[in-house]
Amino acid sequence: MSLSNNNNTTAIINPKPCNYNCGTRIYWNTSENAYFEVFAKKKHICPNRSKSNNNVVTQTTTNTKPSYYNKFAKQYQQQPKPKMSNSLELLSGPIEDIQKKYEILSDIVIDLGGKTHGSQSHIANNNSISLIVYFEIPEGKREEMKRKFDIHINTKLENRIQINK
Ligand SMILES: [Zn+2]
Repeated sequence: MSLSNNNNTTAIINPKPCNYNCGTRIYWNTSENAYFEVFAKKKHICPNRSKSNNNVVTQTTTNTKPSYYNKFAKQYQQQPKPKMSNSLELLSGPIEDIQKKYEILSDIVIDLGGKTHGSQSHIANNNSISLIVYFEIPEGKREEMKRKFDIHINTKLENRIQINK
């Protein structure tokens, strides 16, 4: 290695690949206090470094939950879905009665914020059936539901007795 060659490269101290894996070989330029590119001999403004800065910004944004999420979470907490309890009602009698009873029952269940899940019917004899109606209803509303249903059914029965008289 000749002396002149050494002099020619004194400014290039410990060239190394850029830390941000952009593939450029760089060296620390002591007079400029900056990394210079070995071949271009100009200040290295790394494209990967700005990308990685963006990444940092993005990560910060994802770490902080956006405000709409918090709003949604609050609303959700304010209106929690009521706990549901499941039950069933056995309706039996003539088919036309069962239809009315089922309609009354499902109306009451829906009014109280519940819903019917389905039913199973059993033919008891030629003219009458048994219908099991499955439903869910908000916890604590089951008694109210049974009371309302009884009142409706009794009213209907009374009406029929009056009509029959
Ligand atoms: Zn670079």
